[in-house]
Amino acid sequence: MEGLMMDHPLTLHYLLERAGSLFSKNEVVSRAPDMSLHRYTYGDFYRRTLQLANALRKRGVTEGTRVGTLCWNHYRHLELYFGIPAVGAVLHTLNLRLHHSQLAWIINHAEDQVVFVDRSLLPLYEQARREVHTVQHVVVLPDDGPTPDGYIDYEDLIRGEPQTLSYPTIDERAAAGMCYTSGTTGNPKGVVYTHRSIVLHTVASCTADALAVSENDTLLPVVPMFHANAWGLPFDAVLTGAKLVFPGPHLDPLSLLDLLAHERVTLTAGVPTIWLGILDLLDRNPGRWDLSALRGMVVGGSAAPPALIDGFRRRHGLRVIHAWGMTESDPLGTLARLKRHMADWDDAAKLEVLSKQGVPVPLVELRHVGDDGRVLPRDGATMGELQMRGPWVAKAYYKNPEAADRFTADGWFKTGDIVTIDEEGYIRITDRAKDVIKSGGEWISSVDLENALMGHPAVLEACVFAVAHPKWDERPLAAVVLKEGMTVSADDLRDFLAPHFAKWWLPDDFVFVDAIPRTSAGKFLKAELRDRFQNYLVKQSSARQPETPRR
Ligand code: ADP
Repeated sequence: MEGLMMDHPLTLHYLLERAGSLFSKNEVVSRAPDMSLHRYTYGDFYRRTLQLANALRKRGVTEGTRVGTLCWNHYRHLELYFGIPAVGAVLHTLNLRLHHSQLAWIINHAEDQVVFVDRSLLPLYEQARREVHTVQHVVVLPDDGPTPDGYIDYEDLIRGEPQTLSYPTIDERAAAGMCYTSGTTGNPKGVVYTHRSIVLHTVASCTADALAVSENDTLLPVVPMFHANAWGLPFDAVLTGAKLVFPGPHLDPLSLLDLLAHERVTLTAGVPTIWLGILDLLDRNPGRWDLSALRGMVVGGSAAPPALIDGFRRRHGLRVIHAWGMTESDPLGTLARLKRHMADWDDAAKLEVLSKQGVPVPLVELRHVGDDGRVLPRDGATMGELQMRGPWVAKAYYKNPEAADRFTADGWFKTGDIVTIDEEGYIRITDRAKDVIKSGGEWISSVDLENALMGHPAVLEACVFAVAHPKWDERPLAAVVLKEGMTVSADDLRDFLAPHFAKWWLPDDFVFVDAIPRTSAGKFLKAELRDRFQNYLVKQSSARQPETPRR
C-alpha cells in the first residue's frame, strides 16, 4: 500500500528560507583579520545570500557547477554555504592549509569553475593558480584590504542584485557540497554531499541527545568551514536561528577565549589540540574569562584525552562533549553522553564513559569486523575495524574507482578506525588502522598511551607512534611537548605510565620536542614523526629490549 504523505524534497532552500523569514533579527558575528568584529543579522545574511545566488546565475553558475571556496570562517563564507547550493551548484570547500600543488590537484579533480578566495589567502591561491586548469572566474572576498586589479570583488559581484530568488527545482539527491579528505596516504578523496544528507544530518545533530542546538544558543565553530562542513554547525545555526560567531583566522587560545567570553558563546567545537591550548591558558589565568554561558565544547577529529575532559570539568566547571566523525559522514557519527542509569556513578566511572567516542547519533549504524570480515562481539574488548552506514554516509568517492574497496558488498563504509564496542553500544577508538603499532605481532594502542601521557601535569601534548625495531618490528616512541616552565625526565614519564600498562606497551623512549607537527586539520601528524624518527631505535645500540609481547 502506498503511503499518502507529501514527498517534499529535503533541500537547503528550506533552511535558508526559514532563517530569512523567522530569525531575521538574530546575529552573526565575525572576527576580521584586523581583529575587528563584523556584526549583521540573519535578515542581512538572507538578503545578501539571495543577491549572491542571482549574481552566480548571471555568470552561468547552474545545477552541478562546482564552486570552490578558499576562506576562513566568517559571514561571507556562510553566504557561500547557502548561495551556491541555492542555484543547484556545488559548494566545494578548499582546505587552506594544503600545499599549493595539492590544492591545484583538488580544484582540477573537482573541476571547479569559479573560486571564491579571501583577500588574505590570495597569495596561496596565486601559487596554486599556475597549475589550475578549470577555473574561469576568481572572486575575492575583501577581508583584509581591497581586491587587487584583475579579480572580481565579492561586494561588486552582489551589489544591486535582486533580494529574491526563484529557486530551481532540485532533487534532494543532487550534490550540494564537496569536501576532500586530507589524503595522508595517496591523493585526497572527494566526498560529495547531497541536499538530503545535509538536511538530515542537521536535524539529527540538533536533537536533544546530540548537540541540542536551539534558537537560544550561540555557536562558535573553531573547526574550519573547510573541514567537513565545520561539523555541520553553520547548518545547525541556520536551521534553528542560533546566533553564530566566527573566529576568522584567529585560532590562538587567547583570541578564542576573549571571543567565547565576549559573545557569551554557549556551544563551540574543535579538534583536541585547540582545547589543550585553551585549557593550559585557563589554568594559568583562573577566573580571567567569564565562560558561564558556555554549556559545551564539542571535541573530535582525534581522541579527546580524559585528562582534558576531566581538567575542564573539575577546574573550570566546563563540559567537553566527545564526538567522532569523518569527512565521509558529513561528519557526525557518534557522541559520548551518559545514559540515565549512569547518573549516580562515581566520577571515575563517568569519565571513562565520556572519554569514549560514544554511541551513534540517530540514523547512523555501526558495527566492527575482524580481518575475516566477520562481525565482532560487543564486549568492550575485541578490536576490529569500524564500519558505518546511514543517510549521510558516503556510498562512493568522487571519480575514484581505486577506492571502491572502502565500501562493502552489503552496503557499509569501512572507516579505517580500529575500535572496541561495548554492550551499551559505546565505541572506543584504539587507533587508526594506519597508526597502529605492531610490536612482535601484537597491537599496542597509541591513543591509550597518548591519553595517559597527557594526564601528566607537566605534559602539554604527547604523540605516540611506531618506529622500526630490529627485533620487534615496531616499537612505540613518544614525542612530548612540555608545558611552559615545566621539566620532567623520560624515566619520570615511564614511571608515570608503568602502573597502568603492560610493560611491553611502554614507549621505548620519550623524545622532547618544541611542537608536534599538525595535519591540515590540526591533528597530530604521525606520518611526519614516523619519518623523522624512523631509525631512532635501530641506531640506538643501547635500545632496551622489551619483554616478549603477551596479553
Ligand atoms: P583526516 O583523514 O584528514 O583526519 P577526517 O577529519 O575525516 O579526515 O578524519 C576522520 C578520522 O578522524 C576518523 O576516521 C578518526 O580516525 C579520527 N577521529 C575523528 N574523531 C575522533 C575521535 N573523537 N577520537 C579519535 N579519532 C577521531
